[in-house]
Amino acid sequence: MEFCGHGMDRSWCYLCHLEGGGVDPRTAWGLDAEDGPVPWERRREPMTETQAGHVRFLCEEFGEPFDESLTEHEAGIVVRSFLEEPMSDRQRRTLRWLCEKSGAPMPEDLTYRQARSQIRKLVALRGLRSA
Ligand SMILES: [Zn+2]
Repeated sequence: MEFCGHGMDRSWCYLCHLEGGGVDPRTAWGLDAEDGPVPWERRREPMTETQAGHVRFLCEEFGEPFDESLTEHEAGIVVRSFLEEPMSDRQRRTLRWLCEKSGAPMPEDLTYRQARSQIRKLVALRGLRSA
């Protein structure tokens, strides 16, 4: 096994995956508001580059095909539905590693969104480099 800069196995480290995924880090961590001022029914424009990066990243996480032709509106729906899926295997392994290091209990049955914020919290506690 090859250790990454975070001390985890590079093959499943969620942080490395996120950093190397070509996705805007603030978006990937869910720090930017996903809803803009434009009403949903008017968002027929093609998805933005930031959205496309995020959707592509999540499709890879869940082994789903990436559809480049999504509108802004559709991309928003796809992202939200992915976030309510159970956490990914990569997240689970990263979270378990972080919990072991921190002596925190390993939470089970998290959604992707919940696991993401949990990972971010533990990463901050450990002072690991992340977005
Ligand atoms: Zn890493």
